[in-house]
Amino acid sequence: ARTVCAPLPVLGSDVTVPLVTGGEVAYAALDYAASAPALQRVWDDVAAYAPYYGSVHRGAGYLSQLSTDLFENARRTVAEFLDCRSDDQLVFTRSTTDSLNLLARALPADCEVFVFETEHHASLLPWQDARVTYLDAPRTPRQAVETLERALAGRDPHGPALVCVTGASNVTGELWPVRELAAAAHAHGARIVLDAAQLAPHHPVSVRDLDVDWVAFSGHKLYAPFGSGVLAGRADWLVAADPYLAGGGASRKVTRREDGGVDVEWHESAARHEAGSPNVIGAYSIASACKALAEAGFDRLVAREEYLIAKVREGLAGVPQVKVLSLFGDDAPRVGVISFVVEGWNSSHFAAALSAEYGIGVRDGLFCAHPLVRTLLGSEPQSQGECGAPEAAPGEKSLNAIRVSFGAGTPDEHVDRFVNAVRELVSDGARWQYRTEDGRCVP
Ligand code: PMP
Repeated sequence: ARTVCAPLPVLGSDVTVPLVTGGEVAYAALDYAASAPALQRVWDDVAAYAPYYGSVHRGAGYLSQLSTDLFENARRTVAEFLDCRSDDQLVFTRSTTDSLNLLARALPADCEVFVFETEHHASLLPWQDARVTYLDAPRTPRQAVETLERALAGRDPHGPALVCVTGASNVTGELWPVRELAAAAHAHGARIVLDAAQLAPHHPVSVRDLDVDWVAFSGHKLYAPFGSGVLAGRADWLVAADPYLAGGGASRKVTRREDGGVDVEWHESAARHEAGSPNVIGAYSIASACKALAEAGFDRLVAREEYLIAKVREGLAGVPQVKVLSLFGDDAPRVGVISFVVEGWNSSHFAAALSAEYGIGVRDGLFCAHPLVRTLLGSEPQSQGECGAPEAAPGEKSLNAIRVSFGAGTPDEHVDRFVNAVRELVSDGARWQYRTEDGRCVP
């Protein structure tokens, strides 16, 4: 048997939740893809800093100086974690969604954007003001590269273009061929931004090695749930763009004009897009998480996650009613994010049963990736049992799916409990607890 490292300590492991059958059980957070628990180490760092909290870039006092140093050191730590180029800029944002919207606002005039329909809405939707080409879902990583190459081949290579692609799918967990897509983009004079929201918590991300122009991710998926995200990469488009938000901190000099108006000189550093008082705890917590993950070693974390993925996939494979959703097939490399449907079950009820009867937190729905989930479910048998969703008539396709996701803090017991729960629910069928007197099913 392989020896696998222990999970990293996270907050919440001693939280208990009530069960519908009576009693309490330790909560099994298996929804890391939505938001991961804080690493204990991150919490400890934040707690140690909190009494010293002060305004960033806005005070002469000792604690303001200290907070400003921590904020700027955090920028360097995260840039190092991402292996950024020396002239890259790193902007602290609120989230991946915020980062990609910022980049969308910084596109040069007449920029074309190429994006796969399989993206999370955060990377699918911010480009609506540009000329966007939506690319059909590929069925292999190779096909993804070919699809992009075909789409780029027809464009004027002298005009600006941006490709936006996810590193790991928030639905299937599958890894995308980022390096190859970046090479294809660059060969056709386009730039590429990597949505690393699901990749960065699970694998090392090297901007240099992948040769991506920008990378975006969220602190709350990287064990640092304190309200910050990151956009890092090429400075030129960011410096040429109007500030994302207008306000203090982004402006270097503001003067009244003789005609009564106001002239503004904006910063050319990352501060240009960080107007308002920065979230120092958010930034500091991300830096703390980056350090903790680097110190734990991604080799060990990836090995542990592979072990958990195998446990879940083997467990689900033993339940014939379960169909795991996949774009690239069973052998595709993936992170700990697995979506599935269960024959005879409405996905929402199944997720509710996992919570109510087993204390397991998963997600159900379309995961903010509607086109992808619809494509994946299009080929699935309908999964409505007698507790079918009201919006899907018998014979129709399943409308949503169940997603289980995990990471560095997940103990074996959580995934074992999950696999066992799936087996039990499937074999026992819908429980009476979810029926009302008139026969409707409610969680
Ligand atoms: N991209 C991907 C791949 C995601 O999984 C998510 C979050 N589910 C986002 C972007 C958006 O992240 P946030 O909600 O933190 O902005």
